Amino acid sequence: MIRIYKCPSCGSALEYDGGQDTMVCPHCASKQSVQTVLFFESQNQNTITGEEYKDNSGSGTPEMRCPACDAILMQPKDLHTAALKCPFCQNPVLVESRMSGAASPQYVLPFKLTKKQAKENFRKWAKKGKLTPSSFKTDATLDKSQGLYVPTWLFSYTMKAALNLTGKKERKEKQGDAEVVTTETYDINLTTEGAYERVPANADLTIPRTVMEVLEPYDYNALTEFSLPYLSGYLAEKYQVSAAELEDSVKESLKDDLIEDSKEQIKGYDSVEVNSSEVQFTGSKVEYAMLPVWLLNFQYGQKKFPLYMNGQTGKIHGKLPISKGKLALVFGIVFAVVLAILIILWRVLR
Ligand SMILES: [Zn+2]
Ligand SMILES: [Zn+2]
Repeated sequence: MIRIYKCPSCGSALEYDGGQDTMVCPHCASKQSVQTVLFFESQNQNTITGEEYKDNSGSGTPEMRCPACDAILMQPKDLHTAALKCPFCQNPVLVESRMSGAASPQYVLPFKLTKKQAKENFRKWAKKGKLTPSSFKTDATLDKSQGLYVPTWLFSYTMKAALNLTGKKERKEKQGDAEVVTTETYDINLTTEGAYERVPANADLTIPRTVMEVLEPYDYNALTEFSLPYLSGYLAEKYQVSAAELEDSVKESLKDDLIEDSKEQIKGYDSVEVNSSEVQFTGSKVEYAMLPVWLLNFQYGQKKFPLYMNGQTGKIHGKLPISKGKLALVFGIVFAVVLAILIILWRVLR
């Protein structure tokens, strides 16, 4: 089913408003709680629905169409988009099958920063760059900020490790005028346990994993039971990488973390080396959650500069271009000052 949630007052479409933790109608500003919207949905009220694949042409190739205006929403090869705005009527559209059944997230971390706050945050951040193009700070640019939910696997593990290590202590002794260093080595056996809670792994191919690593941490205490209305008005994709595909690499890096953490527990040596380690996983849990990101693709000349913001904490990742105009101005001023100094020197020394 393709769904649009409608405002009970005026019939426009409702969008999730992060700052208020409610659904809001951009047309008449009326507000509904997510629970109320879900109740109306259970009664088949205040919602427009359509089939996910509809064959209008009779060609036998069904397309995904907007239930409000019947425009084609996406290319048939797009198998992951679950929330978007209709490119023609701008209504927030939700593709249910991509967020239900086996594809249903357990949790959503709802947007905390509204679009207005995200814009201000980008603007404030850009002030630090004195040579940032002025066009970045305009509403025309910042209005292009787009909220999107990133599908993410959250891995939790408990682990046990048995380690054999060598600790070294150096002793310096004076023998006459010379200093003699003797090294004592110690054999250390250590068994230790570790627990790692909700280690995130990006399940999306649109946003690079390295970007999500910079935007972290998210506060998972705010995780909320998933329901579709939270996605209304944003972009969202179904996971493209399964938990099974990511599990091994997460486990490997946690093994290394546990060994490093254990090593640091050992005190009183000048150096500690790991000879052998055996790590067992004693418990595991995988959860599927949607995490909020504000994205702004800043176009400068022919190039695009993507900027990302944590939709909960406001942390930003990205690089802004240097304004050619401002750079030329700085060079101009420097050149003028140097020239002035040379002229003065020439006059004094003449
Ligand atoms: Zn309304
Ligand atoms: Zn439409």
